[in-house]
Amino acid sequence: MRRVSIFGATGSIGQNTIDLIGRDPDAYDVVALTGGQNITQLAEDARRLRADVAVTADEARLDELRAALAGTDVEAAAGAEAIAEAAARPADWVMSAIVGAAGLRPGLVALEQGATLALANKESLVTAGALIMDTAATSDGQILPVDSEHSAVFQGLVGEDMSAVERIIITASGGAFRDWALEDMAKATPEQASSHPNWNMGQRITIDSASMFNKALEVIETKEFFKCSHEMIEVLVHPESLVHALVGFNDGALMAHVGPPDMRHAIGYALHYPERRKLPVARLDLAKIGALHFRDPDLHRYPALRLAHEVLAMGGHAGAVFNAAKEVALDGFIDHRIGFLQMAEVVEEVLERLSGSQCLKNAEMTLDTVTETDHLARKTALEVIKEQNR
Ligand code: NDP
Ligand code: MG
Repeated sequence: MRRVSIFGATGSIGQNTIDLIGRDPDAYDVVALTGGQNITQLAEDARRLRADVAVTADEARLDELRAALAGTDVEAAAGAEAIAEAAARPADWVMSAIVGAAGLRPGLVALEQGATLALANKESLVTAGALIMDTAATSDGQILPVDSEHSAVFQGLVGEDMSAVERIIITASGGAFRDWALEDMAKATPEQASSHPNWNMGQRITIDSASMFNKALEVIETKEFFKCSHEMIEVLVHPESLVHALVGFNDGALMAHVGPPDMRHAIGYALHYPERRKLPVARLDLAKIGALHFRDPDLHRYPALRLAHEVLAMGGHAGAVFNAAKEVALDGFIDHRIGFLQMAEVVEEVLERLSGSQCLKNAEMTLDTVTETDHLARKTALEVIKEQNR
């Protein structure tokens, strides 16, 4: 039986992973499931899948989790330390689907113990690309991408030589405000930004899709994972969300990955890799769909894309600054403290203020240097928001 753990089990990616594993329960031995506030779901899945341990990120809710698991053999634990401890438990395949920078540490620990890390948590590559890629290279572990675009590129590269690749094109739906005027985007509410035209995802990534901060993170993720130059990476707006990415080769060929907008494809590919197995996703009828549309993104509407390339040009710890400032700006937008377009202004200002800081110049990257940079960027972002709102 394959030993599997799921970090962020109660979220959108986590639940899709459980859907796949739950279809073939005899094939998997579930080691750890982790969640945050959704104790009911965590306990229900841990019971059903007979996990060894269930962990909530919130220490204050440990008693509640214990009570929900009463009468079972499932251990209950809580807090960031307990999540890291769960990641150290031997497992063959580990899903990294915690949202935000909190996902980095358990992923590193899982790689160190030799697991295959199915990486949905894009923030790991954005904040600490060199660290997580080096950890994978020097341990017995390996990373498989789960973000749909990166899974698509990965699949397009099977049997190919990276030296023959000229361009990597990742697509973007354009999110909730694809066809909105800029004046209307300025007034957009979190509720409006939280509905995605094609994908059903967690709230934070859905809002990041509307601002294209999600695509900006993915540009950085592409550079870090595929180790290509950032000039090779292009973003293409594709409203249908059926072509997930394209790889352009030096003979002029473009290999496109086409599939339904269902994360169980990318999760399933990572689960069964290097095999391809039957997955419960819809089969596309391209004749019925008829036409696919593509256009260049308008950088004026989506400054996050420009910032991503600036971050890559800065290198080092700039990704950690970018991600942390983005997370604080997103909190500010969700709490109605800042406007939708103000998120990019805050992030840009934080990058500018910290561009000369020692943190950013730090040549060595460790979990400590990344955490230190993350904290400094969060503090700076809060100051910027305060000043901008004065
Ligand atoms: P969700 O918000 O749906 O789920 C996030 C998960 O993380 C939940 O299990 C949540 O627990 C848990 N969590 C939240 N905060 C913490 C914390 N501080 N410490 C530990 N656990 C925490 O997110 P998604 O599933 O949408 O996304 C997960 C990751 O995958 C993100 O990095 C996202 O960018 C990436 N991704 C998602 C895609 C999607 O289709 N959803 C596509 C591609 C990438 P609880 O809910 O119990 O509070
Ligand atoms: Mg994606």
